[in-house]
Amino acid sequence: MKLFVIGKPIKHSLSPLIHNCWIKKYNIDVKYEKKEIDLLHLEKIISEIRHEKIKGVNVTLPYKKSITRFIDEMSQTAKDSEAVNTVFFKENKIYGDNTDGKGFIESIEKEMKFDFEKKKIFIIGAGGAAYGILSQLNKKKVGPVFVANRTKEKLNNLVNHFKSKKSDIFQSNWSALKPPDDTDIIINTTSFGMKKGELIEINYKGLTNSTIFADIIYKPKETEFLKFARLQGFKTINGLDMLIRQAAISFNLWFGISLTEQDIKNAKDICDKAC
Ligand code: NAP
Repeated sequence: MKLFVIGKPIKHSLSPLIHNCWIKKYNIDVKYEKKEIDLLHLEKIISEIRHEKIKGVNVTLPYKKSITRFIDEMSQTAKDSEAVNTVFFKENKIYGDNTDGKGFIESIEKEMKFDFEKKKIFIIGAGGAAYGILSQLNKKKVGPVFVANRTKEKLNNLVNHFKSKKSDIFQSNWSALKPPDDTDIIINTTSFGMKKGELIEINYKGLTNSTIFADIIYKPKETEFLKFARLQGFKTINGLDMLIRQAAISFNLWFGISLTEQDIKNAKDICDKAC
């Protein structure tokens, strides 16, 4: 039996490395591979899962939203995120979940020893990842959340989407990125930073040394955004731990195995070497 990560492009995905490390350790008779597909092939993939020719898939850009129309039952998180990154077949139904937000929260809680309750949060970006993260932040009873995004319309859509569940979510100005005083965590959820020289400039005034700068990008290991913050003395974390923890949640959905912190570390070491 096989599992796939599907997307386009998919060449650089680390997911096979991560999952095959755990598949080997737990001696499971499956193989996890990457598969680049076109939009038209989504339906076929789902049919193969339904006929148990494929055990399941992880879904990445650009299909996290488009796959939802083929899913019989979406988790509440997937509904809130309007996106699916994990698909499996159970009790005659195709299920879709989204593990990105949970992976992010776990990463920050465990790696940065951070408690989200009542914390002031500044999010940069209003794409799929921002939806996933916000859907989970809501469960953590966080304090006010401020969001900035290059495209105003997408920012409006995101804030309106979450406003009914969280009244203290606010739009922030993109042209002068200024987190409110004493912001506890600043999260870059955009893809801006993946290329050399891409720097998200933040006005640091009013922040304290305890502010965390998180970037969900993991390639490069340190974006300009994180480098700049680190040089100013702030605590920083990249997206690799999130990637591994969201994969661990998918693994649990497929195999019912709760991975240990050592499993997380082993996968991280493998990815660190490959990056
Ligand atoms: P997406 O839905 O395509 O959203 C992209 C976001 O980036 C939007 O907010 C977009 O702003 C912004 N953006 C793109 N180019 C920009 C530019 N030149 N200047 C300013 N903003 C720009 O993508 P996504 O799924 O949210 O993923 C975003 C990033 O997160 C990717 O790098 C992805 O690899 C990473 N990610 C990491 C993990 C992990 O496990 N670590 C998980 C999921 C995603 P506009 O609205 O203005 O276009």
